[in-house]
Amino acid sequence: MNASKSTSASRDGSSCLPNREFKAVYKELKQLLPDQVRIQEPMSQHTTFRIGGPADILVEPRTIAALRETISYAKVKNIPVFVMGAGSNLLIRDGGIRGMVVKIGRHLARIKIDGVVVMAEAGATLSHLALTCCQASLAGFEFAVGIPGTVGGAVVMNAGAEGRAMSDVVQEVLVLNQKGCFDRLKKEDLGFGYRSSNLLDHNQIVVEVVCQGTPDQKERIQERQKKHLHHRQNTQPLMYPNAGSVFKNPPGFTAGYLIEQAGAKGRQIGAAKVSLKHANFIINLGMARAKEVQDLISQVQEMVKQRFGIQLALEIQIVGED
Ligand SMILES: Cc1cc2nc3c(=O)[nH]c(=O)nc-3n(C[C@H](O)[C@H](O)[C@H](O)COP(=O)(O)OP(=O)(O)OC[C@H]3O[C@@H](n4cnc5c(N)ncnc54)[C@H](O)[C@@H]3O)c2cc1C
Repeated sequence: MNASKSTSASRDGSSCLPNREFKAVYKELKQLLPDQVRIQEPMSQHTTFRIGGPADILVEPRTIAALRETISYAKVKNIPVFVMGAGSNLLIRDGGIRGMVVKIGRHLARIKIDGVVVMAEAGATLSHLALTCCQASLAGFEFAVGIPGTVGGAVVMNAGAEGRAMSDVVQEVLVLNQKGCFDRLKKEDLGFGYRSSNLLDHNQIVVEVVCQGTPDQKERIQERQKKHLHHRQNTQPLMYPNAGSVFKNPPGFTAGYLIEQAGAKGRQIGAAKVSLKHANFIINLGMARAKEVQDLISQVQEMVKQRFGIQLALEIQIVGED
């Protein structure tokens, strides 16, 4: 799974399946999963960057059973699968994604609270999680307010802010593994690191996440959430499509500081620009292509390397074909 981070064989250079087989697959999938399947879907409509070429097939499963059926079908047909959430940490290349994209979003987004235990389906948004926990007077999720991802994507990336991260609240994760079986993984099994977990490499689909909150007064939680949101609005270029921080902070520095000091703030290639408001954000001024963003990324890395001898590592994920 997550197979199209690399590429596969092509149909007239545009799909991983021969033409006739592709049509048959689409027909079968439409019957199997009514109203949940699209073909040649522009991925620019599914990323916060508003960038990305077409996916051969996009499936948005409505139920966990449908998700499982989708994965089993893809396995039988040998179709590569890329799983995504809100597409808020992705740069999808201009050639799009060969095979199948499975988007886990609003249909799989229930949140249940039982005492201090919170169960969230992978497609729930982080903001919804934070607000629901606040309503239940549960603290610990304030950092998540304003991060535009899903709970599934956030666990995989160990998303965080203001010194807190998913690894501080997650207890257990229900995943669908490569064999199409469900598995419960404890926090210790997830290999959480700075903006990473071993779910990224192990091709497991996050279906549900169990977290633990801390009882607190609702008003105090609300106050902290407001502060976080305010800080984001003041420091991030939210008027333009973007994918959040492009680079990870290297030890001892913020990437934004290094980029600014290297003179890369405000650099522009085509419609992709290093934000003047936050140098670790690249913004899409309108019709930016992935290629422009990639070239800008390389330029910024080169400038920082030359000035500081530090190689900036990517926080965003680049997937799909050129
Ligand atoms: C304005 C803005 C601000 C941001 N601020 C922050 C911040 O403060 N802190 C931070 O950490 N990030 C931040 N981000 C980045 C992003 O929101 C997070 O990384 C988020 O957790 C990604 O979730 P997603 O659902 O969008 O995942 P996607 O971008 O869709 O996918 C990211 C990765 O997770 C995998 N994935 C997604 N869902 C699943 C699943 N259910 N099962 C298995 N794999 C899955 C994908 O294959 C991919 O590898 C920001 C982004 C934006 C646009």
